[in-house]
Amino acid sequence: MSKNCCSASCCQTPAAKCPACGASGQKVPFETVKNMVRNDVPDSEAFGVCLAADCDVVYFSPGRVFRQSDVRVPIAWKDGATPKYVCYCNRVTEDEIIHAVAKNGARTVSDVAKATGAMKNGNCIANNPKGACCHKDIESVIHRSLESK
Ligand SMILES: [Zn+2]
Repeated sequence: MSKNCCSASCCQTPAAKCPACGASGQKVPFETVKNMVRNDVPDSEAFGVCLAADCDVVYFSPGRVFRQSDVRVPIAWKDGATPKYVCYCNRVTEDEIIHAVAKNGARTVSDVAKATGAMKNGNCIANNPKGACCHKDIESVIHRSLESK
């Protein structure tokens, strides 16, 4: 792989709890929030991202929340998101990964990357709403597809 976005310092760190649902969030770079939210985000606050599927809040800081309707892209891990992007940088969906596993015999993240174009030209901080690399998310889709066989 020529460009592996996981080499960046983008790995998940736990953050505060979501003020709406109480689930533990994950820290997210301010640059990500600024790029994802439709309106201007003037202050560089520390933001967390809520990973709960049934909670409408995407980003939260001590003084603010942004909901799904405030964000430019569908949030794949929230209930009802379509399409479900896993690799946001190259717009690869969960369905495409499941297909690569079922039809092309992909078994690893690099197989999926080859079959779908995922993880090429990664700029996860700007494009992925988690502000982190999709590598782990691709892995979990592969595992789920293999288990459901
Ligand atoms: Zn929440």
